[in-house]
Amino acid sequence: MTMRIELTRRIKFCAGHRLMNHGGKCENLHGHNYVAEITVTSSKTDEVGRVIDFSVIKNLFKGWIDEHWDHGFLIYDRDAPVIEALTKIRSRIYLMPYNPTAENMALHLIADIGPKLLDQIAGYELKLTRVRIWETDESCAEVTAEQAADMTEAWLQSSTAHH
Ligand SMILES: [Zn+2]
Repeated sequence: MTMRIELTRRIKFCAGHRLMNHGGKCENLHGHNYVAEITVTSSKTDEVGRVIDFSVIKNLFKGWIDEHWDHGFLIYDRDAPVIEALTKIRSRIYLMPYNPTAENMALHLIADIGPKLLDQIAGYELKLTRVRIWETDESCAEVTAEQAADMTEAWLQSSTAHH
């Protein structure tokens, strides 16, 4: 029998963003109290009976989020006026290759950032299988590892078509 165990760690952070071409109030710079939910999956436990200490996952992902996203602005890299304005006041900016929606933040964490973070810890058979970004208490976006591969491919195709 193959065992499959999932662990999820919640990480809270504050960040600002705006959505280009949204056509509504989200075009204004504004912020959220986000929660990132990081889920890893393993097929084995250690002699203590755990997959990995939760604090290891917390330190990796919270460390990265604190350094790059927390109290900063997540900005689409084509959003020149906002980049210019925030640079002028030396605010923290994190550029993304797409609009900083909760969907795309989850995609970025699961496809680009998470695998590199997990590479830093050896000796565990861990897969990053799901990331959820809660933008409010009521709304979250979820991307699984399989969806991430499809989304990245679709995004690459549309991005090439537009250039
Ligand atoms: Zn928003």
